[in-house]
Amino acid sequence: MPHRTETDSRKLLRRLRDEMSLSNPGQERLDRITTIIAESMGVDVCSVYLFRDPDTLELCATEGLRPESVHQTRLRLGEGLVGKVARLARPVNTANAPKEPGFRFMPETGEEVFTSFLGVPIQRLGERLGVLVVQAKDPRLYSDDEIYGLEVVAMVIAEMTELGAFVGEGTSFATTHKNPILLRGVTAQEGEAEGEVWLHEPRVVITNLVNDDSQAELARLEAAVAQLRVSIDELMAHAGSRDKEHQEILQTYRMFAHSRGWMKRMEEDIRLGLSAEAAVEKEQSFARARLETVPDAYLRDRLHDLDDLSNRLLRILTGQGHETGADMPDRPILVARNIGPGELLEYGRKLRGVVLEEGAVGSHATIVARALAIPLVINAARITTEALNGDHILVDGTEGIVHLRPDDAISSAFRDKMAMQAKAQERYAILRDKPAKARCGTHVKLNMNAGLMADLPSLPSSGAEAVGLFRSELQFLAQDRMPKRSDLVANYARVLDAAKDKKVYFRTLDIGSDKVMPYMNRPDEPNPAMGWRALRVGLDKPGVLRMQLQALIRAANGRALSVMFPLVAAQSEFTQAHDMLLREIERERRMGHALPEKLEIGAMLETPSLAYAPHSFFEAVDFISIGGNDLKQFFFAADRENELVRRRYDTLSVSFLTFLQVIVDRCHEAGTDLSFCGEDAGRPIDALALAGIGIGALSMRPASIGPVKSLIRRANLNEVSELIARVQARGLENARPALLDYVATLVE
Ligand code: PEP
Ligand code: MG
Repeated sequence: MPHRTETDSRKLLRRLRDEMSLSNPGQERLDRITTIIAESMGVDVCSVYLFRDPDTLELCATEGLRPESVHQTRLRLGEGLVGKVARLARPVNTANAPKEPGFRFMPETGEEVFTSFLGVPIQRLGERLGVLVVQAKDPRLYSDDEIYGLEVVAMVIAEMTELGAFVGEGTSFATTHKNPILLRGVTAQEGEAEGEVWLHEPRVVITNLVNDDSQAELARLEAAVAQLRVSIDELMAHAGSRDKEHQEILQTYRMFAHSRGWMKRMEEDIRLGLSAEAAVEKEQSFARARLETVPDAYLRDRLHDLDDLSNRLLRILTGQGHETGADMPDRPILVARNIGPGELLEYGRKLRGVVLEEGAVGSHATIVARALAIPLVINAARITTEALNGDHILVDGTEGIVHLRPDDAISSAFRDKMAMQAKAQERYAILRDKPAKARCGTHVKLNMNAGLMADLPSLPSSGAEAVGLFRSELQFLAQDRMPKRSDLVANYARVLDAAKDKKVYFRTLDIGSDKVMPYMNRPDEPNPAMGWRALRVGLDKPGVLRMQLQALIRAANGRALSVMFPLVAAQSEFTQAHDMLLREIERERRMGHALPEKLEIGAMLETPSLAYAPHSFFEAVDFISIGGNDLKQFFFAADRENELVRRRYDTLSVSFLTFLQVIVDRCHEAGTDLSFCGEDAGRPIDALALAGIGIGALSMRPASIGPVKSLIRRANLNEVSELIARVQARGLENARPALLDYVATLVE
């Protein structure tokens, strides 16, 4: 086979392009393409294998192998050399195929006479589409240039496949982006939603793959890269030195944007005949394919950075912004790699659901999705490469499952599930104005958690008696600059107006840990969950906390006010915060502002230490609210954001319940009101146990109030309390099994 030159590759690409503009999509075209490649490369065989399902490759066209084997010969992923190329997403090049490990002879193809083998993956943006193979009788190893040239050709084929070019009559090949796919992720916000995909970062559409003038195309690439570099420098200047993490990402961008290797590969592709866009996308495809195989988290992040950078470059080259001109579907389900809280808030309640490829249960986006009550599934691997705008999608936030392009059977089963849930909600709606009074006569207060103005409309419909936890930091997280005091006053006043005569327990800023405000200086901490966060920040740097307290007093404008401080770990911290609030009251009085007619000052109990504070602490606080999410993470030393350990320990384990009883007893002795406002309060069985051990108020997401109320009204809390005591006396580890048995005996 003659050594191929640059011009050969260019000629080949042009012929392929011409062929595509002439022939009809379908089998005939695919056949012509293999013929052109074989001729142009001077090889005996050229074959295209495509995935018919994620595990099976099918010979879809060939020049040189027996025609009757087309659509008959199939291989599993990893089987034979073709399967190996597909699995590794890397070329296999051998002068002696039968001697190559993994070789599998397929007699029906007549390939035994061909000794040399070169296979390259056909892939687009990390999605594996198939394998392109050339074979020849003479035992020769293909040169690097030949491998490179074949990869470029495979890139063009990948684009055609994407455009549905091969899907014609008689082609049994199951096209990509058409199959139903089930993705398993992690639940971040429960609930079910059906709708159509709306990509947060829509794909750039490339129409010209092959260039007519390499020089002109190289100049386009150079200009675009120069523009990219300037834009990164501007971003860096803009970000300033405050946000370290952001700076680090931009540094990596800058490094890639100046990388000679990256540029060289793209220039090479252009010289071989690709357009500048196609060259960028080819690099991006390779990076994505590598992403799937790289186990190292740090490296994967860097490959993600490269992917982002390629997107930026593609947008510059094509002039396509985020606005593709497409209309948002009626039932949009947002699909993104990740999203910030501000961006999510901008979409707001328009969204039916959200699916993220990354994300964390305790992240800001999750907090916002919860506040907006939008089902959210995170860690749904590959969703951004699999989903296309407008695809039908079902999000099962409760199970952490996503069905993309589901078939009819799945869709109808899913709709049945949604209908059942809606029915249950209707049943709960009937209970809305009824108290959560157990059969024994005990009344449990059910409150709702909120954090945004947008939550307040659910207050009347949820049947909540109060807003038991108002996470005030959400307003701070949702914007890119520090809110002014006047913004806070207006916001809190609106919250109090909307709550009417119902109490709102405002929690002061709980920042730090995973809740990071981009505009605030934050030290690098080895373990931020146990670091400088929440009230600790407020006491050390009191400026913002004082502003917030002033705003709360002004917003109350004479009405009753309840304030609680997060993560109080010692009595002295509460005393300081308490005194700070009283000083602000005094200051407001001097300035002539109306003072709250009633002021309640409480503490969130989120560290075990506070359960053993002196008795005088329990007397000094007006109320205590258990922040179960944090308390549980510190009690079991299990990070609430770490998926590996998050679900390992049970709230109904006897050790935790016994500990909670200590808090109940201490509050009881001091006559202090006690509530529980972690996520567990919204899980009916857990809520029943919490009420059973004597916690009088539970604060939860509005949607949980119905199910919790329904169960409490059917139960007898004395029986629950006795049952837990029996479990303890028997030395068992967990009360859940006994509680489940008990609940099963209750009448509906
Ligand atoms: C908690 O820790 O349980 C809590 C209610 O607060 P957050 O989840 O906001 O930390
Ligand atoms: Mg907390």
